[in-house]
Amino acid sequence: MVGGGQLARMTHQAAIALGQCVRVLAESSTDPAARVSPDVVLGSHLDLAALRMAAVGSSAFTFDHEHVPTEHLEVLVAEGVNVAPPPEALIFAQDKLLMRRRLAELGIAVPAFAEVRSVHDVVDFGSSHGWPVVVKAIRGGYDGRGVWMPGDAVEAKAVVDEQLGNGVPLLVEAKVPLRRELSAMVARSQFGQGATWPVVETVQRDGQCAVVIAPAPGLPDDRATEAEELALRLAFGLGVVGVMAVELFETNDGSLLVNELAMRPHNSGHWGMDGARTSQFEQHLRAVLDYPLGDTAPLAPVTVMANILGAEDAPEMTMDERVHHVFARFPDAKVHLYGKGERRARKIGHVNVLGDHVESVRNKAELAAHFLSHAVWTDDWRPHG
Ligand code: ADP
Repeated sequence: MVGGGQLARMTHQAAIALGQCVRVLAESSTDPAARVSPDVVLGSHLDLAALRMAAVGSSAFTFDHEHVPTEHLEVLVAEGVNVAPPPEALIFAQDKLLMRRRLAELGIAVPAFAEVRSVHDVVDFGSSHGWPVVVKAIRGGYDGRGVWMPGDAVEAKAVVDEQLGNGVPLLVEAKVPLRRELSAMVARSQFGQGATWPVVETVQRDGQCAVVIAPAPGLPDDRATEAEELALRLAFGLGVVGVMAVELFETNDGSLLVNELAMRPHNSGHWGMDGARTSQFEQHLRAVLDYPLGDTAPLAPVTVMANILGAEDAPEMTMDERVHHVFARFPDAKVHLYGKGERRARKIGHVNVLGDHVESVRNKAELAAHFLSHAVWTDDWRPHG
């Protein structure tokens, strides 16, 4: 697996149960996955020699992020490496403009968009679609980095001049009137078997996913089915092998638009580690190793995942002590820590809670996640009465 982040770490965790070992191509021996796999190749995902070294003897070659250059992947494929997802599919998770164009060709609803060659393209787009508009880096953005929302031509000029000046290719799209954001997670195996999980709601804060509610509360059955079918159609239409998250916008009138694709395990699928019969990590391995896919049925009426996001200043209380407190208060909270240093807003772990009612389950997951990052109970709970 290329990339030593938490996604590779949790994939390795699932691999252990399958009697497999994930070799990790990591930049540093302190990366989350490099800390747990006995088989680490240190190197950069931009370096063909390092990618080749990681590929030697592998049954499948897969990713915890999308940033490997296509030309390197094509070399590996030509040398007989089983790259999954293959580069001709992965490109649609790497390049937002190609993705928008391909989805539009497939007849899938996306926000109105245009390529940006100069500030005029953005100003024209804003004049015809209304301000603000959304300007995006075509490649490399994550967690809202690489997304700008200029409110008028002056603001647009500032963004476009700076980004194009730095050589960042851009697209512009209409700002969608959002009710909320959803994610449809799907897997497709090499053999061509497909499976979906229930569609989830992703709650964003400061451009970053904070909470995931599975299944998405109040989503009408026909919309949920539409989203799962859309994800399957995309997985097959693009030739995906492995898991894919289809990030969706639910508009104010209830219709669904595709925002972006991630062809790898994704934050919106973490709930399934405890809340579904088969997690996305196990499913990704099944798919790329061409095993039959696992049952994706949820194990409770509601599962809520809350990210543990690093505090502004790391608390004095050690993480170990914070875990003690959370386990003492909530014996049913499932904590997943990534072995990362604490930095503001950094994803350092997550908490899953299962139950019957969205409100209480969400409350518990968020209290626990906040305590794990801040050592503060937001409801003023006192352990000693
Ligand atoms: P990233 O790759 O950084 O995750 P996204 O394309 O997912 O970037 O955008 C980040 C966030 O910005 C989205 O989750 C959404 O909240 C908001 N956003 C992006 N595009 C639009 C749009 N066209 N209309 C409204 N909000 C948007």
